[in-house]
Amino acid sequence: AQLVIQQRLTNFTKTFPPVKFRDERTRKRILITGGCGFVGSHLVDKLMADGHEVLALDNYFTGRKRNVEHWIGHPNFELVHHDVVNPYFVEVDQIYHLASPASPPHYMYNPVKTIKTNTIGTINMLGLAKRVKATMLLASTSEIYGDPEVHPQPEEYWGHVNTIGPRSCYDEGKRVAESLMVAYHKQENVSIRIARIFNTFGPRMHMNDGRVVSNFIIQALQKQPITIYGDGGQTRSFQYVSDLVEGLIALMESDSFIPVNLGNPEEHTIRHFAEIIRDLVDSESQIVHMDAQPDDPHQRKPDIRRADKLLKWKPKVSMREGLQKTIEYFRGQLASGGRLDHT
Ligand code: NAD
Ligand code: UDP
Repeated sequence: AQLVIQQRLTNFTKTFPPVKFRDERTRKRILITGGCGFVGSHLVDKLMADGHEVLALDNYFTGRKRNVEHWIGHPNFELVHHDVVNPYFVEVDQIYHLASPASPPHYMYNPVKTIKTNTIGTINMLGLAKRVKATMLLASTSEIYGDPEVHPQPEEYWGHVNTIGPRSCYDEGKRVAESLMVAYHKQENVSIRIARIFNTFGPRMHMNDGRVVSNFIIQALQKQPITIYGDGGQTRSFQYVSDLVEGLIALMESDSFIPVNLGNPEEHTIRHFAEIIRDLVDSESQIVHMDAQPDDPHQRKPDIRRADKLLKWKPKVSMREGLQKTIEYFRGQLASGGRLDHT
């Protein structure tokens, strides 16, 4: 029997990443919806390391327990399996509301659910914020600008979205979510923050989420053709995930209730982006063109003067530097037999 007890204790002994010590006065209880996703899990890491109590809530649609498994069992960490479409009650000081599929194939997979998550889910979290007087940050998106006619996109731009196109479940869902945030702020005095996030990449992106960064890197690593949708003249600006996490926390800690763009203004055509990845991977992949995607925005680049002014925030990691780290991550995943699914 002694041997069995000994064995159990050994199994429970787990080494956690270091966390800062905080006393009760500065330690916050923080809810992160979508906490097992790509961005959410990096935010969990940063807030845990800063010594806060973190509750990660997720329905595991696109997120994975694996992304936060290094915290499971830590006294400051809690993992909750829950869908934000249903109300949730908890005492917290801050809410980072990230729950929503983010890549086009994921959010188009079940458009009705995407709309429910972004509307009913946001109402549920705002109701919680109102009740417990928590500050709530919404992970909004550059997609609220649609296929923009103004370039680069400042926060004052109202956008150009096709309400009945394939992207509308996400774009309009996030637009309503922003409207809900503002309505709860004005009517119910809820303390709000709105982050308009531009294309973000880094380790823990899904290998098969269909986004351009993961697609091109995996294709290049596997010597498969790199698939450009359309002529590749469309542009995007890519930010590395650590910059986004710093921006989200800076915004939460500010007193800005107006929307703030968070992105890296380094803009590339998708054609050029394919060449950069092929060179960085040193791959022999061919670059091929496929049908253009309906309603694919032609250009996208954040105007980040507001973030600079209000948050003193600017991205620090160059696209190439971020890509190197992401390529290493995907290389490791493939080498360890990482499966091309979300399990
Ligand atoms: P992700 O898919 O990796 O993470 C989203 C997380 O939300 C997943 O863990 C998923 O399981 C969870 N989720 C989805 N629906 C849910 C529901 N109904 N209830 C509970 N959990 C649910 O995507 P991500 O890239 O980490 O995106 C996080 C947030 O940032 C999203 O709100 C997204 O719209 C926003 N955003 C991301 C980007 C980007 O480039 N990554 C750009 C703009 C905006
Ligand atoms: N794209 C591409 N090939 C791919 C995946 C995406 O050419 O295999 C293009 C896509 O059409 C879009 C851009 O890359 O113009 C960015 O797509 P992504 O899905 O990453 O994000 P979006 O900014 O469209 O939400």
